[in-house]
Amino acid sequence: MTKAPIYDRVALIGLGLIASSMALAIRQGGLAREITGHAKSAETRATALEIGLCDRVFDSAADAVEGADLIVLCVPVGAMEDVARAIAPKLKAGACVTDVGSVKRAVIEAVGPHLPADVAFVPGHPLAGTEHSGPRSGFATLFQNRWCLLTPTAQSTPDAIARLRALWEGMGAKVDEMEADHHDLVLAVVSHTPHLIAYTMVGVADHLRRVSNSEVIQYSASGFRDFTRIAASDPTMWRDVFLTNKDAVLDILGRFTEELFVLQRAIRMGDGAHLHEYFTRTRAIRRGIIEAGQDTAAPDFGRVAPTSGGGGGNPA
Ligand code: NAP
Repeated sequence: MTKAPIYDRVALIGLGLIASSMALAIRQGGLAREITGHAKSAETRATALEIGLCDRVFDSAADAVEGADLIVLCVPVGAMEDVARAIAPKLKAGACVTDVGSVKRAVIEAVGPHLPADVAFVPGHPLAGTEHSGPRSGFATLFQNRWCLLTPTAQSTPDAIARLRALWEGMGAKVDEMEADHHDLVLAVVSHTPHLIAYTMVGVADHLRRVSNSEVIQYSASGFRDFTRIAASDPTMWRDVFLTNKDAVLDILGRFTEELFVLQRAIRMGDGAHLHEYFTRTRAIRRGIIEAGQDTAAPDFGRVAPTSGGGGGNPA
């Protein structure tokens, strides 16, 4: 280890893409002395041990968190409450519980009430991911230069927030704090609704019996190919995102549908000026993302080299 560890023992509950990336980044940065873990299936637990993600893997979540200073809930949002209920009796006084769920209000309501008063709770969400899942999909650089949003509650202490911030920064992330409802609305715009649109577009092509048609695959440019990549994301995780961020997604989807009708009308009426003005504005947004360092200007035809690890960011 190169630096003094931030935590003595970190427990990862759920050992998929996010947890395995955290385990690798924590080890690489020497950010914890020991990593324990638990996942639902014996198969995932065996894989985690085999590839050395954790020092120790437990059959129950409660046993995995015993004695841990930081507990990271890395399960789908819909599983957070059951896990919180299961681990609560074994949490060490002074420990901190955090999570990486893509929705924050629902997780706060599901987890917060189960935690003892002497345990801090700092909800979090790394804006980094890929369409892959499972313990073998992680890579240590997933969080490099990506944002991690913390949404503190009355159960968050300044010390717990500061240490968690240091952990995420140690894994290469940039950290910001945000109010939970605002987080859910922002994510509905930048991630959740776009995912739904990608699912829909691939579904439309499927209904037209074109997805398996070799012409569509052969000639698809990055647009459709990116849709199919996004639409390959984990079904359980995304089901839970839409069920738990319902209001914000429906709000944004409503606005999206209205804009779509306006564009549809412009096309029907041959209103080229409207289309040109609209596309000029959206192009400026893309430039802003590049200037903010959240993507590169390099042309991307949906064929990012495998050595980059994630094959293109796909944050939830
Ligand atoms: P993943 O690769 O599908 O892994 C999920 C893990 O949770 C699996 O190890 C699974 O165990 C485990 N699990 C599920 N239910 C459980 C339960 N009741 N008890 C214990 N373990 C359980 O998922 P992921 O992509 O890492 O996502 C994890 C969390 O991160 C989700 O809340 C998601 O919203 C959030 N997130 C995801 C992304 C992304 O792009 N993927 C980005 C940011 C945040 P088994 O393998 O045994 O089934």
